[in-house]
Amino acid sequence: MQQSKTIQQYQQQLANDKNGCENAVHSYLQKIESSKQLNAFVEVYKEESIERAKELDVKRTNRNSLGKLHGVVIALKDVICYKNHKVSAASNILKGFTSVYNSTAVEKLLAEDAIIIGNCNCDEFAMGSTNENSAYGKVLNALDETKVPGGSSGGSAVAVQAGLCMISLGSDTGGSVRQPADFCGIIGLKPTYGRVSRHGLIAYASSFDQIGIFGNNIEDVALVLEVISGEDDYDSTVANKKIEKFSRSTGNNRTYKFAYFKNALNHLSLDPEIKKGIESLVQNLEKDGHSVKGIDFELLDHIVPAYYVLATAEASSNLSRYDGVRYGYKEPSAGNVTDMYTKTRTKGFGKEVKRRIMLGTFVLSSGYYEAYFTKAQQVRRLLVDQTEKIFKDFDAILIPTVPANAFNIGAMEKDPVATYLADIYTVFANLTGIPAISIPLFKHINNMPFGVQIMSDKFNEVTLLEISDRILNDYKPA
Ligand code: GLN
Repeated sequence: MQQSKTIQQYQQQLANDKNGCENAVHSYLQKIESSKQLNAFVEVYKEESIERAKELDVKRTNRNSLGKLHGVVIALKDVICYKNHKVSAASNILKGFTSVYNSTAVEKLLAEDAIIIGNCNCDEFAMGSTNENSAYGKVLNALDETKVPGGSSGGSAVAVQAGLCMISLGSDTGGSVRQPADFCGIIGLKPTYGRVSRHGLIAYASSFDQIGIFGNNIEDVALVLEVISGEDDYDSTVANKKIEKFSRSTGNNRTYKFAYFKNALNHLSLDPEIKKGIESLVQNLEKDGHSVKGIDFELLDHIVPAYYVLATAEASSNLSRYDGVRYGYKEPSAGNVTDMYTKTRTKGFGKEVKRRIMLGTFVLSSGYYEAYFTKAQQVRRLLVDQTEKIFKDFDAILIPTVPANAFNIGAMEKDPVATYLADIYTVFANLTGIPAISIPLFKHINNMPFGVQIMSDKFNEVTLLEISDRILNDYKPA
């Protein structure tokens, strides 16, 4: 199959191709097979996706009305439940567990004729930035196999990067869609908290988690967002706001008001080459009539600590359900019940997950609750208030996605704190709930890509997508 540029173009091709979906699936399956060393997939639904494609081809030939994602080949992160398919959050504690229901996102994809081709590797319970913390082994960056793809949704990112599917879903609790998108040179969107149902998404930190989308162009990402967003009886945190249709024509000649945080661009951890890239974008935007203003943001150095206190606290509570009784792995040699819990969890969870459960339990313990958990909540409140103020004056915030681009496999393994600190630019959107996107724009002198992150006001994904589309069209080198 000739790789189509957008979903719309692919669907136009399908109109004249009786076996178009089937051919597309075969071509992706071949590509998956020849890219096995990347380790992007946990499981590929080979026969099933061919069957589904054949059904869709018949449906189209019979001139039945077609779904918005008719024939679109999609991969899921291994934290998103798909009925009668295995889901394990890349953890030994859930290995072999089969989902008994569909997540709402999957339900909506299927209702619009999508083809789900498989589920993708990730960091265990979505905790990490490298995809090295996985019970299935690490994922390789397809642009340079000695580099990490980023995490935690590394497999989903590589699946799109390497052309193993058209679109993939990931989850973003602190940057896990935007950061791997940045490392892989693709688009990664984290919607507003409450835009997409979390029903059937394995929880890491429930007040931060959102399903996100990887794609190659804004049009596709916008279409998938339109499909998976919206009210859900199974998740009361989803807003009943309708998403407006993204359209290339609206606002196309509009000029925007951008802000950037001065100390974010001057941060010591920021790679000089990335800084230069963002500065050149700022200059270009100004030259083209947009306004771009540097603003003060004193809370910058508090956001990573606040995130790691609150997210681990929520994780310690969420992950208490994996006790050997209700789900997955149970230690067979255990004696009494306490022994069974201890041995099951000791064996079932990996090192990073245990570190976070312990950290989260500590910050919630009665002696330290006020000092850590309450303080971090206060920081979160301040951030939300400041963010509301910023969006009274600006359409969007520009910020790097990550302080450095894809690093070598193994480079960060011994230094979890350094890895945490590299989340400095992404966790802000999760703490405040605003939507954020990473779009690929630049090539570093080390030959790997990097992009820019754009954030807009809550539930204003349409502006975010329009701005992103515009920036990609106007400033992405051919
Ligand atoms: N790097 C962040 C973390 O390890 C991102 C997690 C995520 O978004 N799932 O917590």
